[in-house]
Amino acid sequence: MQSSLDPKLLKTINVDPQAAYMIATLEKLEQNQWWSAEQHQATQFNMLRPLLEHAARTVPFYRDRFKAAGIRSDMPLNIKSWGKIPLLTRRDIQEAGELLFSMKPPPDHGQITQASTSGSTGQPVHVKSTALNTLLWRIFTVREHLWHKRDFSLKLASIRQFGDGFAAPPEGKIDEGWGPATNALIKTGPCAMLSILATVKEQAEWLMGQKPDYLLSYPSNLLALIRYFEDNGLALPNLKQVLTISETVSPALRTASLKIWGAPVVDTYSSREMGYIASQCPDHEHFHVHAENVLVEILDPDNIPCRPGKIGKLVITSLYNYAMPLIRYQIGDYAEVGEPCPCGRGLPVLNRILGRERNMLHLPNGEVRWPIIGGPIPRHINLPPRQYQVVQKSRDVLEVRVASARPFTEEETSSLTVAFNKAFGHDFEIRWVYVDEFPQNSSGKFEEFISEISG
Ligand SMILES: [Zn+2]
Repeated sequence: MQSSLDPKLLKTINVDPQAAYMIATLEKLEQNQWWSAEQHQATQFNMLRPLLEHAARTVPFYRDRFKAAGIRSDMPLNIKSWGKIPLLTRRDIQEAGELLFSMKPPPDHGQITQASTSGSTGQPVHVKSTALNTLLWRIFTVREHLWHKRDFSLKLASIRQFGDGFAAPPEGKIDEGWGPATNALIKTGPCAMLSILATVKEQAEWLMGQKPDYLLSYPSNLLALIRYFEDNGLALPNLKQVLTISETVSPALRTASLKIWGAPVVDTYSSREMGYIASQCPDHEHFHVHAENVLVEILDPDNIPCRPGKIGKLVITSLYNYAMPLIRYQIGDYAEVGEPCPCGRGLPVLNRILGRERNMLHLPNGEVRWPIIGGPIPRHINLPPRQYQVVQKSRDVLEVRVASARPFTEEETSSLTVAFNKAFGHDFEIRWVYVDEFPQNSSGKFEEFISEISG
């Protein structure tokens, strides 16, 4: 962009180029969120063209794969031709290794970094990205703050996984600003951080001392915290919003947060491989895809795009990762397609984002379906279990692990068994196991439903 200001004057203005780029991009995002769905799609295909050419030219994996599939990187791009490009699985990424790295990433995308991620499926992969990807992560972080009209002068608390020993209980750690995304642009209020390794009791005591205005954590942890606050008659009167990441948000969490904390839940869906994928609409509980950052497809088992109201697998393409192009990546999560949003944003709508592929329920007849486990226990019993987890041990046997104040009676167990089997759509043998609490896995995530059946 040509500036009409005197170049000599421009040189003397003390503006951080990164901050300037962020502000210019945020201004563009503010405007183009109101584009029509068609405008967004046309723009995406314009951006996918150079990405495909770059992948075919500089990434050995795509060079071979496109050739084998008869894909030409100069083909006319539309939904039909795009659908011919084979999906990329986590297994593909693991097996391809360095063959997925570009041999010639564009120098102006900045320094390349590499990270490992186990993602949603517990299959670790190595991912490369550029400084541009990091900058975009920050830009979409700020977009999300702006959408939800947060007051930057207030206090944010964050209970999540940090590096070894960082923000350990009971003190945690206080920083002056909310983080790198906002710090580059504005002076915010403080950020109080506590490691997710803290017990729920430790977290509650820490929060009572911190009195945050916003709280960010994982949904399963938040639900346990809210129960603790309820059981002990505690309150967080300053709390305005609860921000969630990393796990599926249940309707029960939204309800409990409003009831006990008086604060709504605002969810964001991101991944280390893709950056920001979708964030909750400012006016509704469903999500808008950040179509300026990623192309999101929701596909049925035959890889046909799902219609609104249907659930399918999430297939995502990063528009900006030229260090390791991820094209039609089957990330392992599922989503329900939404109708256009009444808020007026033309960004695609996802009604819900659903957990993880390995958490699908396998029926004895070979069918695989989404397990509905949120309902039965709360609906059929007054005694509140602290937490529960369902583990599919075999095609016929489910183990229900429960952390509750006391074991269920025989009568409660039999009515719950009926309720579970109704929700699961099959008469499973259900084994009840009582635990004191659930150990969290190394990433701090909790799995509500675990399947020990492979494939
Ligand atoms: Zn909306």
